[in-house]
Amino acid sequence: MTDMDCLFCKIVAGTIPSRKLHEDEFCIAFADIHPQAPTHALIVPRRHIASLAEMDAKDSDLVGHLHFAAAALAEKLGLAKGYRTVVNTGADGGQTVDHLHVHLLGGRAMHWPPG
Ligand code: AMP
Ligand code: ZN
Repeated sequence: MTDMDCLFCKIVAGTIPSRKLHEDEFCIAFADIHPQAPTHALIVPRRHIASLAEMDAKDSDLVGHLHFAAAALAEKLGLAKGYRTVVNTGADGGQTVDHLHVHLLGGRAMHWPPG
């Protein structure tokens, strides 16, 4: 399913440009427009799922795939010292785009706890 009011569906469809870093059958990855680290990519399923809270059991392989793709991309981008993956969910989670995405952040030491 595609939601043509959704920013990331438009990026998946190519109607909004992005700096693409990876694509496969199930997901694409592109550079975050407002990077929070030297490397900041977003890994996004091709299919519209609003958030982790909206997924159902049949989506669990897809969510696993997003993380597998994030790890492969981290290796490709040379993040050998480590990186952070983040999935923001809902208003309190800091989610601003309602299309499931994994943030991949690297190239600097991350802080803990996150804000
Ligand atoms: P979140 O706050 O977890 O929903 O993350 C949404 C992310 O999308 C933010 O880090 C934004 O900087 C990023 N973003 C918003 N618009 C674009 C865009 N057109 N291209 C790439 N990244 C974007
Ligand atoms: Zn979408």
